Amino acid sequence: MADDTPPKPIIGVTARQFEGGPLPRIGTYAPYLEAVIAAGGAPLVLPLIGEPEKWVSGVVAGLDGVLFTGGEDVEPARYGEAPHERLGVVSPLRDGVELAVFEQARLVGLPIFGICRGLQLINVALGGTLYQDLPTELSSAKLHAQGATEWLDRSHTVLIEQASALARIATVQRVGTNSLHHQAIRDVGLGLSVVGRCATDGTVEAIEGSGPGWLLAVQWHPEVLWDGVEGGPHRAIFEEFVHAAARYREERCRSTH
Ligand code: MN
Repeated sequence: MADDTPPKPIIGVTARQFEGGPLPRIGTYAPYLEAVIAAGGAPLVLPLIGEPEKWVSGVVAGLDGVLFTGGEDVEPARYGEAPHERLGVVSPLRDGVELAVFEQARLVGLPIFGICRGLQLINVALGGTLYQDLPTELSSAKLHAQGATEWLDRSHTVLIEQASALARIATVQRVGTNSLHHQAIRDVGLGLSVVGRCATDGTVEAIEGSGPGWLLAVQWHPEVLWDGVEGGPHRAIFEEFVHAAARYREERCRSTH
């Protein structure tokens, strides 16, 4: 293989723990990595190990963007609430690691993209709160939980705020999305704007940051919807994120040479 391939922007992808085996196992779902590669980025799964203060700044220094992935519920104590009886599985380790990664990423102005739990984590990191269980707290029943075997279904429509970066990126005002969440944003975090809502019940489905640094997060799972003709808006989000990471990389290389 030729060795003159220009380096691609390096996208850190947050990991989850997997049960079983004699030793702790971490990793992520392949579609996150496939979508980053398809958009022109170089994905790297981030560590999910304790004492993040020992490694986060050194790892983030080598990244050009970070993707916060889906997964467990954020511990309610992180936004000052007691656990609701329908709270799902939590991971204090993952909360601590991802909050440390987020803080460091913000500090250096890294482009940030959040998906599902990633959107919720970002919101909590910026002082926002969550509905701990949508069906019981907002009575939207099964609208947002289409079923874990139906990831490719587009079970609801998201209305995109006209004057938003997301509208410019997606080039549509209505987008069909999948929906596999039982939590959602309640109070919006500092410096975040709601730029997408479920057309049926108004649930927050997309947020973006006012800067500094590129920040966008969605409640649905674009990493499995980007392929094919209908995938345009979902693919465009990944591409715009990787473009932002490429710009960040240019700046980073200029300032260190
Ligand atoms: Mn939804």
